[in-house]
Amino acid sequence: MDQLKEASIYETVACNLCGSENYRVIIEPYKKDFNPLEVITASQGIRGTQRIVRCLDCGLVYVNPRINAAVVSESYAGTIDKVYVQGASGRQQTFTQCAKKIDRWKKPPGRLLDVGCAAGFFVNAAKKHGWDAAGVDPSNWLVKWGIENLGVKLYAGTLKDIGFGDKEFDVLTIWDVLEHVPDPAKELQECYRVLKKGGIIVINYPDFGSILSRLAGRRWWFLLSNHLYYFTEKTIRKYLENSGFKVEKFAWHWQTLPLGYLAKILGIYSQSLSRLSMGLFKSLRLSNVQIPYYAAQTNVIASKY
Ligand SMILES: [Zn+2]
Repeated sequence: MDQLKEASIYETVACNLCGSENYRVIIEPYKKDFNPLEVITASQGIRGTQRIVRCLDCGLVYVNPRINAAVVSESYAGTIDKVYVQGASGRQQTFTQCAKKIDRWKKPPGRLLDVGCAAGFFVNAAKKHGWDAAGVDPSNWLVKWGIENLGVKLYAGTLKDIGFGDKEFDVLTIWDVLEHVPDPAKELQECYRVLKKGGIIVINYPDFGSILSRLAGRRWWFLLSNHLYYFTEKTIRKYLENSGFKVEKFAWHWQTLPLGYLAKILGIYSQSLSRLSMGLFKSLRLSNVQIPYYAAQTNVIASKY
């Protein structure tokens, strides 16, 4: 770890939620041999590269020290993720369900912005559902892919870079992104600024406090090198309230992916089991069957009033 601290690519950070510098290490890294520049961009992340700590004052769980924020931002701007776009049909199905669920809180017409939209699968689903939908993502490659292949309105950059006006949007969505952002507090302040009064924000995050995470311990599948934060209901609530939002509801998030793709992801744990199941599903012609699953992800809905 001393070596990591010395290298300029790493930085030591205070708690992003309360500013405290008091923490306890809860998970030590165990992987020795890896390229620090690949830990952020690796499509499915690399396991065992992080030192994870818990703030003694507010309970926020975060990576410390970590790859410094400038390197993280640069990595995302340069992301080319061909594996991600392969899961297109499943993601589209999941996101169609997500777009319908938002009706309960707010119905189209209106303006919706997806923050960290990647290739724009959710933007596409929201547009089909009746929203004037747009997305923003730092990856030039993913944004270009979405514009060309889905015909959606996407902007390359960070929310702050684009410079939207105050109170422009009725709905903001952040799907599996906040845990990647170096400064979630600032990101949520910016979200609050661009949201209309009476608007809502929907955030999906892997829940470190979930029963699945507790059972899996250090083998939890979301302990990945590209996640800088591990939120719980308590810490995400505090983040939202600090930014001015009122928390409305927490709910389990169900997703859909092709069976073949899930078998591929299994490779994180066991290459041989992954290959075996991929072969089996292929021979049974089940690779494209869409499977709904809950993987410890939580939706939180909050409003600006
Ligand atoms: Zn704290």
